[in-house]
Amino acid sequence: MGKHRVVVVGSGFGGLAAVQALAGADVEVTLIDRRNHHLFQPLLYQVATASLSTSEIAWPIRHILRNRAEVTTLLATVTGVDVTGKAVTLEDGSQVGYDSLILATGARHAYFGHDEWEKFAPGLKTLEDATTIRRKLLLAFEAAERESDPDKRRALLTFVIVGAGPTGVEMAGAIVELARITLKDEFRRSDPAGARVVLIEAAEKVLGNFRPELSEYSLNALRNLGVEVILGETVTAIDADGLVYGGKRLDAECIIWAAGVQASPAAKWLGVEADRAGRVKVEADLTVPGHPDIFVIGDAATATKPDGKPVPGIGDAAKQAGQHAARLIRARLNGDTGSMPFRYKHKGDLATIGKRAAVIDFGWIQLRGWIAWWVWGLAHIYFLIDIKNRLAVALSWLWIYLSGQRSARLITQGEAEQKAPIKEVTEAPESAGP
Ligand SMILES: Cc1cc2nc3c(=O)[nH]c(=O)nc-3n(C[C@H](O)[C@H](O)[C@H](O)COP(=O)(O)OP(=O)(O)OC[C@H]3O[C@@H](n4cnc5c(N)ncnc54)[C@H](O)[C@@H]3O)c2cc1C
Repeated sequence: MGKHRVVVVGSGFGGLAAVQALAGADVEVTLIDRRNHHLFQPLLYQVATASLSTSEIAWPIRHILRNRAEVTTLLATVTGVDVTGKAVTLEDGSQVGYDSLILATGARHAYFGHDEWEKFAPGLKTLEDATTIRRKLLLAFEAAERESDPDKRRALLTFVIVGAGPTGVEMAGAIVELARITLKDEFRRSDPAGARVVLIEAAEKVLGNFRPELSEYSLNALRNLGVEVILGETVTAIDADGLVYGGKRLDAECIIWAAGVQASPAAKWLGVEADRAGRVKVEADLTVPGHPDIFVIGDAATATKPDGKPVPGIGDAAKQAGQHAARLIRARLNGDTGSMPFRYKHKGDLATIGKRAAVIDFGWIQLRGWIAWWVWGLAHIYFLIDIKNRLAVALSWLWIYLSGQRSARLITQGEAEQKAPIKEVTEAPESAGP
């Protein structure tokens, strides 16, 4: 008899935590991911807004697991699961057999049935998404410098974020600071500091999962920073030149989607029940109904806490789920077949609004303002994977804090498109503000 084979699909927060928690167990692990890196998604918006570079928030999976001889890492895309033959199928049709399977394939953004909006309003989930948004943002400033028509220039310098959860709020604050601090003295014909940053949210408050007083504080902090926040309005159309919300047209060159998620197709692979966002409805121990050897964890699953509320789709919940799955596999290998429900412990909610304000709710204490911003920064540095990245990110932030300068302002991925014809601009630089 060979060793117990654990296959883990996805090396995000959940999958990597499971592999790490299996260290020392009598198992052979195969970790499969379609990307070669583990990504710290909470700081993706800082890559999108030119504060950090891609390698500061992502690490090669092979390198992270280099000292784990029992772990094999495969760069491959899983396309299905053969539950009868106990194997996952890869994109080339080959299969990898398992005794225990952990699916931790996460989620992507969803457009509420309007997938055609994606090309006009990219979402933020991968490094490619972040560099695409960075390119779009920086190109809009470049095109505004070459545009002589005031209306077109105003549209070029109007940045709209749809969705005011933590990602939308953080993006909005960072774009304002990019425009008003970093870029303000570098353009001659246009005025980046006059850029409009508009945050549209269908609910009546920003940061809907925070306590009302912290949401209210965040709304005021955003408005003080210069973000136009529009609440209680749904976006009904998006095209190349702007969007429509609440029946009103808003011309904008750069729209970013930060609303809605759709889970990876794990439920389809398994042929099991999912919720409306495609998340697999798992048992209390995170296994799939009828398949005790298969776990679905993190953003790909919907799990329920003992109080009946859902486990949130956040990084720490995915990590705890990964650790739980590993614990259960170890217990079974030791002959313990008793039930072991997942007990999620919520440690807190954090969001930052620009470089001087944040909100934090640890349950037992709530913080806001600059002190929360420092705690937010230290917590994020602590959760980065290695010492080099912790130092690099801390230095980058210190530099931005002191000088306002963001160094990752590279327009990459293809030729810079010509967005506006080169025209002689004779009028004075004009603010695109309202
Ligand atoms: C912009 C952004 C900001 C966020 N900010 C925060 C925050 O501040 N705090 C917080 O707690 N949470 C935050 N989150 C949420 C958090 O990142 C997720 O909840 C967490 O990453 C979920 O972990 P996971 O392991 O389920 O999935 P992921 O971390 O998304 O990992 C999924 C992995 O599966 C791989 N994969 C997917 N499909 C396949 C396939 N078919 N074959 C092979 N591999 C595949 C992917 O490449 C990926 O590596 C944020 C998320 C985003 C997008």
